[in-house]
Amino acid sequence: MGDFLGDLKKGLNKSVEDLNKSVKTLEIQSKISNLKKDADAAYAEIGKRAVAENGTEKYGELGEKLQKILAEIKTEEEKLPADAADAKKTKICPGCSTENPGDARFCSCCGEMLEDQNP
Ligand SMILES: [Zn+2]
Repeated sequence: MGDFLGDLKKGLNKSVEDLNKSVKTLEIQSKISNLKKDADAAYAEIGKRAVAENGTEKYGELGEKLQKILAEIKTEEEKLPADAADAKKTKICPGCSTENPGDARFCSCCGEMLEDQNP
């Protein structure tokens, strides 16, 4: 008979090790995905500022696409009933003055909590 308990212990240790590894992997993956979200938000903000400075013409097809989308948003927003349009009002971040969607609770730029401006 082999060292049953010893093998069991080894097996358990290995399972725990594997589990720790996968927890660690998950943690890292979740951190990366959060960082990517932050990066995307920063990219979006940089993009907005670039467009505000340079207009969309400079960005070729992508610029045209953006302009079409923005025009479509405007058209659709005009179709909204008045009170629903109110809910679409933006919230200005008290921390960094970024415009956030009306239903946002935190600033997309700096993470500051946004006060409810239409109680
Ligand atoms: Zn902010």
